[in-house]
Amino acid sequence: MIKIPITKPYFDEKESEYVSAALSSGWVAQGPKVSEFEKILSEHEGVSDGIATTSATTALHLSMVSMGMGEGMDVIAPAFTFVATVNSIVMTGATPILCDISKDTYNIKVEDIIRIIDSNFTLTNDKLVNNKTGNVLWGIVPVHQFGLCCDIYAINEIAKKYGLNVIEDAACSLGARINNIHPGNFGNVACVSFHPRKSITTGEGGMIFTNNKLLADKMRRLRSHGASVSADQRDKARGFLLPNFDETGYNYRMNDIQASVGLAQTEKLDIIIDYKRKAAQIYNELFSKKVPELVTPIEPDNYFHTYQSYVCMLKEDVFDNIDIACNTRNNLLNKLEEIGIATRQGTHAIHLLGYYKNRFNYSPEDFWNSFLCDKLSISLPMFYGISFEEQELVVNSIREILDVLKNIKNVNCEA
Ligand SMILES: *Cc1c(COP(=O)(O)O)cnc(C)c1O
Repeated sequence: MIKIPITKPYFDEKESEYVSAALSSGWVAQGPKVSEFEKILSEHEGVSDGIATTSATTALHLSMVSMGMGEGMDVIAPAFTFVATVNSIVMTGATPILCDISKDTYNIKVEDIIRIIDSNFTLTNDKLVNNKTGNVLWGIVPVHQFGLCCDIYAINEIAKKYGLNVIEDAACSLGARINNIHPGNFGNVACVSFHPRKSITTGEGGMIFTNNKLLADKMRRLRSHGASVSADQRDKARGFLLPNFDETGYNYRMNDIQASVGLAQTEKLDIIIDYKRKAAQIYNELFSKKVPELVTPIEPDNYFHTYQSYVCMLKEDVFDNIDIACNTRNNLLNKLEEIGIATRQGTHAIHLLGYYKNRFNYSPEDFWNSFLCDKLSISLPMFYGISFEEQELVVNSIREILDVLKNIKNVNCEA
């Protein structure tokens, strides 16, 4: 029996009220509520355009195809992220080039991007060409992981130097910022998610943020089968004409029922983030006093962390070797689950996942920090409304379980 979930959406009567209104209006496909949701949320983030989609995965894919990513192209992405970051690259026909992360921020390591470019690509006719495959390096898809922005300014510098494209996977970082600037305003397209594990939810859903009007129009067309006039616009014009289709596209449309939930959630976004930031401080203080074996998340100067997830790492050097550390992590998570505290590992090391491991023949040590984060990270309960007592129970339980596990050695860690 789970007593403390890993996350929990914050709903009140507003969501039901707005959904009822959408149902009564009779408009349940993409319509005025989606437009309103796009407008209000993009204004909140300070961007000119929001394009709502069915998920962050389809938002990423739509951005990628709209900006020309495809076969014969390489794309750099972090090796420690949710699989959808890299799957969406594969869906376009392009080839992902994994890059390791920094253990302290869980974000892509800029020095490694430079090293990958220098050692695998040659500048030919203003394009970076892969020495082995002949693919052209199209761009970089950095992730703002767990609610903390990556070093996007340094990434933009590299992109500018070589004429690369950048699409930011901000799936878990709606509301995050650097110097008060939100994803979507760093000069690139950014994609957020409304899955229930993210800042706010529409059940499933996503949104692309951009300040590029022309690109936004193209993404709106491709979101809806390549139609040059949206159903909403057609309705407003009282037109009976079918739209024209000069391009081929998808059906990645969010609907007005989801957008109605999104509108109610947007009203709560700031208080949800504020609550989680305070809860993160409480965890930080409790852990620093009671569990020195854990590294708690950092918030660099001028960065604003939204703590979509509160992710810690077991310190490897506290244990005799990495296998013991890793097995301690797994045992700890199992024991927490048994007493009703839900946890997860932070996210995946992509190079350990079957499809990627087999296709690219990766070994665990190819991206060592990503490997360590896969094996030693711990995502703890974090949601609007989590109580001090619940947080204390999580911390005290971890202390007690670690004290017991410390005496158990002979363990294996599946790589
Ligand atoms: C959650 C997540 C996604 C996928 O979001 P969906 O809306 O579920 O498609 C992609 N990338 C990252 C980094 C995520 O955390």
